[in-house]
Amino acid sequence: MAEDSGLYFDVIVVGGGNAAMCAALSAREMGARVLLMEKAAPEERGGNCPYTGGGFRFTHNGADDLRPLLADPSVLEGLEDAISPYTESDYRREMLEKTAGRTNPKLLATLIAESYPTVLWMRGQGIEFELSGRGARVVPGVRVGASAVGSGPGLIAMHYTAARRHGVEVVYETKMLRLLTDDSGAVTGVVAEDADGVQEIGAGGVVLACGGFEASSEMRAEHLGGHWGGAKVRGSRHNTGDGHRAASEIGASTAGQWTGYHGTPIDADAPDTGSPDSVDRLPRRSYPFGVMLNMDGERFVDEGSDFALNNFVEMGALILKQPEGIAYQVFDAKAESLLEERYGSACAVRGSTIGELAEMMGLDRSKVEGTIGKFNAAVQQGEFDPSRMDGKGTEGIEPPKSNWARAIDKPPFSAYRVMGGITYTFGGLKIDTRAQVLDGEDRPIPGLFAAGEIVGGFFYFDSLRASGLMHGAVFGRIGGANAAGRMRGG
Ligand SMILES: Cc1cc2nc3c(=O)[nH]c(=O)nc-3n(C[C@H](O)[C@H](O)[C@H](O)COP(=O)(O)OP(=O)(O)OC[C@H]3O[C@@H](n4cnc5c(N)ncnc54)[C@H](O)[C@@H]3O)c2cc1C
Repeated sequence: MAEDSGLYFDVIVVGGGNAAMCAALSAREMGARVLLMEKAAPEERGGNCPYTGGGFRFTHNGADDLRPLLADPSVLEGLEDAISPYTESDYRREMLEKTAGRTNPKLLATLIAESYPTVLWMRGQGIEFELSGRGARVVPGVRVGASAVGSGPGLIAMHYTAARRHGVEVVYETKMLRLLTDDSGAVTGVVAEDADGVQEIGAGGVVLACGGFEASSEMRAEHLGGHWGGAKVRGSRHNTGDGHRAASEIGASTAGQWTGYHGTPIDADAPDTGSPDSVDRLPRRSYPFGVMLNMDGERFVDEGSDFALNNFVEMGALILKQPEGIAYQVFDAKAESLLEERYGSACAVRGSTIGELAEMMGLDRSKVEGTIGKFNAAVQQGEFDPSRMDGKGTEGIEPPKSNWARAIDKPPFSAYRVMGGITYTFGGLKIDTRAQVLDGEDRPIPGLFAAGEIVGGFFYFDSLRASGLMHGAVFGRIGGANAAGRMRGG
């Protein structure tokens, strides 16, 4: 981009993931000339989307509603009665259960009402779906949704193909730095940087769809707590809160739980930022079947307080709070067959005695022997049953282990080095149901729209599976159309 080229687009979309693509396609459908600005190079495009399974959660009335979405509708043959409807009240209840009732009710109502029309519209734009579980067996009575064909990477590939077909202009390795405003405070474009330098680009409307702030160490430390500064990032390295900062600079209001995030215990040798190829191999969530020791050789948490599915997010945070932000998950031979398959890809430390294991871990031998010895002595009788909360716990130690407690006494022993990994953040910009970004007085900032992970108000404490992509698509589509509505002469 040359200096002073006087570039102008009807709509600029900042970001290159699912929300951005839906915004760009929607604005284009309205006849707007659209520039989509992706910070990443082509091989890293799409933000966190390629890391997902590509699942979309939407309301439907059963097989007849799913049929028009599917690349291969014949998979529904014989399954018509097995697929139950997923109703508006199911969606609302499940979201509010996850978020302790805190999801913004107006945004939630729009998300739910527009979910099915939006996936249908996406299909019309060229996004093909398959039954969730990648065409896997449908269990009778389960209310399946749909996933993009080829999961997250497939979704992004189809989006970029659709963008090219529909005439969206895409630039890569171009970073939005700031927003431009006029005297009235309306947004009139962006300041962007690419290999040629910094340039102003005018626009009738700007849609911010540039993700969360999980890849910014400073913003994590500021909002999630200092211990999060050194976390591993599971997804894209490009989601550094640029949109949060640019919008805040011009008076945008924030919403949602800024201390909230999705995270997990992760292999301590994971790369600092993610790669779609390895992301599924790196979580370490089999801790209920062993103990966790910090670098002082001490236990620090009840590893058996619940199934890992229910507490792995908080476990990741607790590990980061330990000395050096590191812990070891320690198992004996009895537990080996219970470990998640992905532990097979990890570099474990092994020993034929606890003392030998401690030395391999680089921890104080007598300290670790003492901790494990005390733990083993505290284990109570009872039937071990990994399929339920078996109540087989410890007595007389702090912290206790409430379920699945068995002595760590059968060699060989193994230890896996883990730390906290962040998936995505919850806090973001405040928008209304037209995807307009609001100012401190809850007035729309003219010309500024936002969608996707950059928006706050959907998730608190936890998130609802497959609804991140869905809300990005719903509000991306709405924001793109409304931004296009500001076209000169439009
Ligand atoms: C491992 C993992 C698993 C997940 N699983 C699921 C799941 O199963 N279901 C689900 O619904 N969600 C899941 N998510 C969350 C999901 O990825 C997000 O909900 C979704 O990707 C958000 O879409 P988005 O378009 O808002 O942001 P992203 O897809 O992250 O895209 C943000 C885009 O903005 C670009 N960008 C950033 N800054 C700038 C800038 N200054 N200028 C220009 N461009 C910029 C980035 O390069 C990127 O292209 C998962 C995330 C991860 C990491």
